[in-house]
Amino acid sequence: MAEYKTDLLIIGSGPAGYTAGIYAARAGINSLIVAGAQKGGQLTLSHEVENYPGFVEPLSGYDLMDRMQQQSSRQGVKVIDDEITEVDFFDHPFVCSSAGGNSFLSRAIIIATGASVRWLGLPSEQKYIGHGVSSCATCDGFFYKNKEVAVIGGGNSALEEALYLTNFVDKVYLIHRRHSFNAEHVLQKRLHENRKIIVIWNSVVDEVVGKEHPLEVTGVRVRNVKTDTIRHFDVSGIFVAIGHHPNTELFRHYLKMDSSGYLATKEDGCSTEIEGVYAAGDVCNPYRQAIIAAGCGAKAALEAIKFL
Ligand code: FAD
Ligand code: NAP
Repeated sequence: MAEYKTDLLIIGSGPAGYTAGIYAARAGINSLIVAGAQKGGQLTLSHEVENYPGFVEPLSGYDLMDRMQQQSSRQGVKVIDDEITEVDFFDHPFVCSSAGGNSFLSRAIIIATGASVRWLGLPSEQKYIGHGVSSCATCDGFFYKNKEVAVIGGGNSALEEALYLTNFVDKVYLIHRRHSFNAEHVLQKRLHENRKIIVIWNSVVDEVVGKEHPLEVTGVRVRNVKTDTIRHFDVSGIFVAIGHHPNTELFRHYLKMDSSGYLATKEDGCSTEIEGVYAAGDVCNPYRQAIIAAGCGAKAALEAIKFL
């Protein structure tokens, strides 16, 4: 347990957090990053990143984030493995406390807490998380070698997960609630060319079906939203890829949010209504791309430097 005093506290270690740290350190600002439970952020779940500028060949999200951490450390940023559990933005310096029992007093704050997995919310889904229900093909795909699985969703994540899984599995049922995807053209093209993937359009999951001893998934019951017909697919794994929700609960009493829980910012895209508190990345912007999160992190740091 320790009390840290700093000029700038950055909450979160995704592209927004590390980039903010790099800019602050280069301006000679004493700054700390609290990494949170997912060190490196969401991108660490990505098998291949192909659209982050500067890398000719694809690299894994884990590698990209490891590079960002190394770059920030090289500039002198201190990264602490802990999670902020409480904030007090009414006093100045601002005070944050952590799961590890530490307290942080800081003159400025950058919130870069990003977003977390959204689940379908079915009791049967919750029951089998970790026993056949997953949100990460990169982490769990290998366990389904030569099996059949389902992926739920119709955005970039779902298409990437489905394509990645074809490296291991015999068949992927991609279950999507509409009849078109909202994913990049290049991913849609690859998907349609891949014979291991069968798209089940206009359909939602009614129930995850499984066994008790041992607890494991054996299938999925799916309802067509147009015809109301029910179909059953024998699958051993279900990968939920229906998006994310912003990690903003901690700030509810202090900062304005939109109806989906994203932090509201001023025209500059990063200042909040509390002077000295900034937001950056997926926590406050709808683009949800690593390069944009990194750019927002840089901008928030420049604003914080001005304030300090
Ligand atoms: P995040 O990456 O979400 O990081 C948030 C950080 O905050 C984490 O380190 C977390 O531990 C920390 N945190 C949360 N709560 C607390 C707390 N209470 N205390 C301390 N720390 C906390 N984008 C692309 O541009 N290209 C891609 O190819 C791509 N692929 C993707 C693949 C997948 C599977 C997913 C899920 C996303 C992908 N994205 C991709 C989107 C990209 O990952 C995000 O836009 C980006 O990571 C957002 O960065 P961020 O820094 O805002 O937040
Ligand atoms: P997303 O773009 O929000 O897509 C979520 C998908 O899940 C949509 O198809 C949505 O259906 C569906 N969905 C939402 N709630 C559902 C529910 N309750 N039941 C069934 N289906 C549901 O989320 P994402 O794909 O995770 O992407 C998040 C962000 O990360 C995006 O900005 C994306 O561009 C980015 N990302 C980028 C890359 C890349 O650049 N290669 C890769 C991955 C992610 P509807 O279409 O009907 O709304």
